Amino acid sequence: MKVPILIPSIFDHPFTYENSNRKLLKAGDFVKVPFGTKEVTGVVWNFEQKITKKIKIKKISKKIEVPKMNSKMMEFITWFSKYNIVPLGMVLKMTLLGKDVVDKSYEKEFFKFNIIKNQNKFKLNKEQDTSLKFLEKKGNQFNVSVLEGVTGSGKTLVYFERVKKIISKNVQALIMLPEIALSNQFSSRFKDFFGVYPAIWNSKTSIKNKKIIWKGLSQNKIKIVIGTRSALFLPFKKLQIIIVDEEHDVSYKQDEGVSYNARDMAITRASIENIPIHLVTSIPSVETYNNIVNKKYGLTTLKKRYREATLPNFEIINLNKNEPEKGKWIANKTIEKVKEHLKKNDQILFFLNRRGYAPFVVCKKCNDKFQCPNCSVNLIFHKKTHRLLCHYCGHQSSLKRKCKKDNLECNILMCGPGVERIYLELKKIFTDKKIEIFSSDSLREYDSVEDFINKIEKKKIDIIVGTQLISKGFHFPKLNCIVVVDADFSSHGYDLRSAEKNVQLYHQLSGRAGRASNNSTIYFQTFTPNDEILLNVSRNNPHLFLKNELNLRREKKLPPLYKLISLTISGNNKNIINQIALDLKFKLPKINDVDILGPVDTPIYKLKKRYRCRMLIRYPKNLFIQKYFSTVLKNTKIPYGIKLGVDVDPTNFS
Ligand SMILES: [Zn+2]
Ligand SMILES: [Zn+2]
Repeated sequence: MKVPILIPSIFDHPFTYENSNRKLLKAGDFVKVPFGTKEVTGVVWNFEQKITKKIKIKKISKKIEVPKMNSKMMEFITWFSKYNIVPLGMVLKMTLLGKDVVDKSYEKEFFKFNIIKNQNKFKLNKEQDTSLKFLEKKGNQFNVSVLEGVTGSGKTLVYFERVKKIISKNVQALIMLPEIALSNQFSSRFKDFFGVYPAIWNSKTSIKNKKIIWKGLSQNKIKIVIGTRSALFLPFKKLQIIIVDEEHDVSYKQDEGVSYNARDMAITRASIENIPIHLVTSIPSVETYNNIVNKKYGLTTLKKRYREATLPNFEIINLNKNEPEKGKWIANKTIEKVKEHLKKNDQILFFLNRRGYAPFVVCKKCNDKFQCPNCSVNLIFHKKTHRLLCHYCGHQSSLKRKCKKDNLECNILMCGPGVERIYLELKKIFTDKKIEIFSSDSLREYDSVEDFINKIEKKKIDIIVGTQLISKGFHFPKLNCIVVVDADFSSHGYDLRSAEKNVQLYHQLSGRAGRASNNSTIYFQTFTPNDEILLNVSRNNPHLFLKNELNLRREKKLPPLYKLISLTISGNNKNIINQIALDLKFKLPKINDVDILGPVDTPIYKLKKRYRCRMLIRYPKNLFIQKYFSTVLKNTKIPYGIKLGVDVDPTNFS
């Protein structure tokens, strides 16, 4: 009997094998088959596949004794492959563990994830209870509901309660979180509620735990998994609900390797499984907001902060009137405000989303900027290591350079502040205070992020200088003052989501303050006090912002009203990639209402020694144009050394 077998590899179709075993094979069964010179794991695919090529058909070696892949997972893989224009075999690979299934038994290991029942020390308040009832009323079939609530309003408790009720019927739940939000703080809250530490699936999970979780889910022995985007591909046997927490977080989008949006794919998986999915957020993404407005998604809102804590006040410090001294970045007015907070024993955060000491360095004689030799970006000076560093490729160099003007050494000027520079400035102002930097560089010196977080929680640090990293999901009870060092929203003009990202970022950031207080303030130092984005942030009316943003996107024919597919061509010769892009554009089908924009150089036109150019396919959202374009894209011969990156619903335009 001839059987189609899908292999976890770059191929977009199954291969035909002969089954000479007496055992009948069904779609979804895992098997071992010879492939090339190796033996690999594959899955019996749908039988409708026609065999056209006459090739020597090899025999299936054996059936692997694990629960078969269910038909819904197969449907999900197929749809994922079509939508994201990714070969079927590559999607299959994402559902396995290093191209393999887990056939070992872990029966004795599952108990540690057993949910302990009757853990009932939590009581929902009235608002939370109303939200829970709203979600329950939507039923247990496919529906998308948004649970919106200001930071600290207790959204987690609502969906924990929802999950608890559902899994009591011997079914499974998936809770998705962005990587950074998956902290020990979250695990502790989970343990408080469910009585055990959660089964966590992310990049840090050990191989052994991954095997236990994979196996436990395939047998319905593990009920809840908390995971980052890759958890979406786990082999749940009886998945009955998906929660996507922080649904607005851009890290749900993977844009390296296989590009996909895990939030959107989670909605697809829920729809195929015919189960409810809840999107949880403090401000919905513009995409989600659009679906709320169109009544495609339900919405329930929590308006009150826990223990009646209020949101922080906003205060703009106009740097035109309070300009810091030359070479300094913190205004005297800001220093006065911070001193008042310190008197009250408040913790302070200075926020600046720039690692290192100075974001760029120029020579006073030849006026040349120090740029990365591999990328078209400026090198960042890091004082701690006394090196110039490229944040894209990791290239490092010293400050020494022969000057183009006089062949002597360049005379260096450090431009602008990074967190290290602010840290040093603060050290001089607040000499008796404990000050530390919270950035990916400084965290490397700690054993874990958790150590550092603990120090902040216990208030062993008075003043934190932090990058974006600190805005996500942590709770710091004494943090009542945030200073945004440089509230300048003019950059990133090429990113269509920059306004949205800024509103999200500063909203998240302000959510860190005043968790246990009624008197917290966020200060914005700015030279542009009338900037629309800044006003949006301080107005604290996210729905008004979303409404305006949606209108703007409609006018400009941008997502979510229109859809985009990005085609990025990269290689080490600029002319060749441009020519290939133009050839490809010529071959792409011409369809009414579908625009093919470009090719143009990407804003960072050189990255890791490769030149890059991009085309954008723009199309009305009701059109599934992948089916017209994927054939051309798959059959286009790309010369050796050139790469074509396909990104459906792109968010990264750098
Ligand atoms: Zn570089
Ligand atoms: Zn010079």
